[in-house]
Amino acid sequence: MNKLFPAIMIALCVAIGGTVGTTHAATHYVLGYSSVDSGKGLEWGGSTAYATEWNSSIATWNARGKVTISADTMFTLQDLTVSDAYSPAASWAGVYTYKGAWSAETLQFNTYYLDRFSSAQKQNVATHELGHSLGLAHSTAGMVMYKYVSTVTALGAQDTGDYTYLYP
Ligand SMILES: [Zn+2]
Repeated sequence: MNKLFPAIMIALCVAIGGTVGTTHAATHYVLGYSSVDSGKGLEWGGSTAYATEWNSSIATWNARGKVTISADTMFTLQDLTVSDAYSPAASWAGVYTYKGAWSAETLQFNTYYLDRFSSAQKQNVATHELGHSLGLAHSTAGMVMYKYVSTVTALGAQDTGDYTYLYP
């Protein structure tokens, strides 16, 4: 636990909205938008100082097997632009911003917080924000998609259930 910055108090992001869907008895937490293209790809560009954690978060979601997250090339259209920002006044450690159909979304990491986070916390933020870009909304405690920073880096039952709801 980081004593200077109690992680539980820091909101991960300000991704807005979110709708709740249900299938049978299960509740699903989804945004109603995402950065996933019609070919079930998510091509990202830009860069971050937290490349190790970022790449681990990509591997975590790619292991689900339905959406392919990959680095943008000159032959693909960029769906998501990743960058770092130094924002001491902000309450977010990471933020995903949806732009609409014809513009790449942005995903920003706040170096003010992440530079003080453990590797697990950094990976939690990266996996969480990437989850937003896949269309997942905030869900329940203990999940990657819970709204507060934690050391959780593996997807939980609600995380995978919401992913499967969006990408059956
Ligand atoms: Zn969030």
